[in-house]
Amino acid sequence: MRRRAAARGIGRRVAPEGVDRLYCAGSDQRRPSRPSGGTRLRRADRRAYPYPVLSELAVAVATLIAAEPVMAVVHRFAFHGPLWCSHKSHHEHPTAPRLVRNDLAWLWPLLTSAILIMFGGPVLVGLGIGTVAYAGAYILAHDGVAHGRFWVPEVIRQMTVFRVIAQTHHLHHRGGRDGIGATPFAVYFAHLEYRWGLSARYRAPTKLCAPIRVSRSDPLA
Ligand SMILES: [Zn+2]
Ligand SMILES: [Zn+2]
Repeated sequence: MRRRAAARGIGRRVAPEGVDRLYCAGSDQRRPSRPSGGTRLRRADRRAYPYPVLSELAVAVATLIAAEPVMAVVHRFAFHGPLWCSHKSHHEHPTAPRLVRNDLAWLWPLLTSAILIMFGGPVLVGLGIGTVAYAGAYILAHDGVAHGRFWVPEVIRQMTVFRVIAQTHHLHHRGGRDGIGATPFAVYFAHLEYRWGLSARYRAPTKLCAPIRVSRSDPLA
């Protein structure tokens, strides 16, 4: 009975996954094979995601859509809350062609996305690509079209979607350079946020900030 079981392989210790079968065949010593991390990751990805490019694309599109409400919430509760002193640099100098302190806030999501794209599997790569795409779309609509901080082709400026974005974003800046911002906080969904009164209970930040130093060469100072 035991011989028959042995012949069928029952009760025999099976080499765990990752153990080099060829090496074990002629020896009792078991040495784990060491494929490179990238190779192992790609094999696992292939099993979990038979079409990695489609998976990346699907996650990137989902991230791109989800990023807008997330950004509106961050803008409302973080930038017009604890990070107000940094964000204020944008409200005081909305059309500045140079970098202001508020622009540095993009460094975190962009650096994180670069790491995800370089080292992540399909889901994380899609997340990174979607975040970078949203950052580009936001900067184009907000800094380029709405504030004119850099040149944007007239054909893009005249598109209905960008004209609506520019008009609704100027509502956020009512009160001018001394203003403390107002609803809406979104950019692409701003008209819906405004129409539905989603940020109606907004209270102005009361945090006292040090005066923002501006170089004398800045024509907008
Ligand atoms: Zn703005
Ligand atoms: Zn703001």
